[in-house]
Amino acid sequence: MTTDAVRLDNRLREAGFPSVALLVRLWTEHTPPALPVPERCRTCGHFYSAEAPLCPTAAVVRPLLRRRRFEADTHGNLSRLTTNQTDDLLCAPKHLSTALTWRKDF
Ligand SMILES: [Zn+2]
Repeated sequence: MTTDAVRLDNRLREAGFPSVALLVRLWTEHTPPALPVPERCRTCGHFYSAEAPLCPTAAVVRPLLRRRRFEADTHGNLSRLTTNQTDDLLCAPKHLSTALTWRKDF
């Protein structure tokens, strides 16, 4: 399997201007719900690493959803996120849970 096998989620490509509800759904499906973080994204198979802590879909969704998080919050969508998914959405990139998988032996 090459990295080319991991692509953007089709729903994101087809949406054009995605709704907040779709962004939240994609974020929940493409980020780990809880610790410990798995080696790969369970939806698209992307291998997490310090260099690539987000899968391609999560990397596109994260800035869009952060920008619209108050809109998402108003509609109650963010309450669907787990604690880990909320932290990964709103904390600084260096604190992403998926960036820490390489430190497992720590
Ligand atoms: Zn993914």
